[in-house]
Amino acid sequence: MSRFFSKKHASLAAYVPGEQPKTGGFIKLNTNESPFPPSENVLRAVEEASRSLQLYSDPTAWGLRGAAAAYYGVDCAQILMTNGSDEILDFAFLAYGDEDHPFVFPDITYGFYPVFAKLHGIPYREIPLKDDFSIDVNDYVGVGANIVIANPNAPTGLLLSNDDIRKIAQSNPDHVVIIDEAYIDFGGESALPLLAVCENLIITRTFSKSYSLAGARLGIGIASKEIIADLYAIKDSTNPYNVNRMTMAAGTAAIGDAEYYKSNCRTVEENRAYTKAALEALGFSLTDSYANFVFASHPKMNAKALYEALKARGILVRHFDKARISDYIRITIGTRAQMEALVAAISELQKEGATT
Ligand SMILES: *Cc1c(COP(=O)(O)O)cnc(C)c1O
Repeated sequence: MSRFFSKKHASLAAYVPGEQPKTGGFIKLNTNESPFPPSENVLRAVEEASRSLQLYSDPTAWGLRGAAAAYYGVDCAQILMTNGSDEILDFAFLAYGDEDHPFVFPDITYGFYPVFAKLHGIPYREIPLKDDFSIDVNDYVGVGANIVIANPNAPTGLLLSNDDIRKIAQSNPDHVVIIDEAYIDFGGESALPLLAVCENLIITRTFSKSYSLAGARLGIGIASKEIIADLYAIKDSTNPYNVNRMTMAAGTAAIGDAEYYKSNCRTVEENRAYTKAALEALGFSLTDSYANFVFASHPKMNAKALYEALKARGILVRHFDKARISDYIRITIGTRAQMEALVAAISELQKEGATT
């Protein structure tokens, strides 16, 4: 840190992303990317868009927003496109958080939420999940703070019902409720229909997981027109050209190929069921994940040692050195062949007694 760094950032602890190995050859099951490539139409659209890179991108993302609005059945004015969904979350913290409007979120959830709060000097409180990692809805009813909940939650994969989300949103009418639907396409029920009855709801989506575009960086915020106008003001005061031309073209083409991506999501769900059953047969306990990952612990295998042993065998998974979840590993669902390789590697490790 230089002596010029503002004192207000003295306690900043930046978000630590999962490893992105510099060399190939890993079976990469650690950052919840899709194992499937983007569709052919997306690749063509990116190539075409690259021919106009001398021009700025459209700061209103008009074409892409139109495609998304039609797909989600909302008005264009209810949508903001961002540079990954991390950016829409950042904008929302910045727009709605201050000394009088703190944020609350679960103690075990997406690690970026406390980082945004700290970066912007917003007070926040972490509400403990129940022992089984589920959310106690009563903890959020009438809590009188801005709320952010990942649904399904990360890294547990557990899902909250729309009835519960409605209860939370309607009991906090003077604060925003952000539902982060990064993983909603893998079997969950979206809160989109609640937008009609909850004016304080903000739904965030990403193209990084179900749409195979993690490297393109594209996220969406969907909310009332008034909320989206707030978030636009933040966007246009930060980075008006936040989504580049190639990414915009990729997103529009991806929405046009929704059937391809839906079918990939169904495959991920099948591979998730396979992985869950296979790991349970090896003595693991798993949460009931509705995401493109499973969250698993074993009574006799040390999770950190297991993570390291798998890495040594060329398989990357994620381990969090964090209270309450340090006995778990999070495994992204890949292709069937990748999941079979994972199960085989764990089974061999158990035979060797390597990580007990
Ligand atoms: C991956 C993820 C995001 C952010 O994804 P982007 O790549 O920035 O779109 C947001 N929330 C959760 C819970 C995630 O897992």
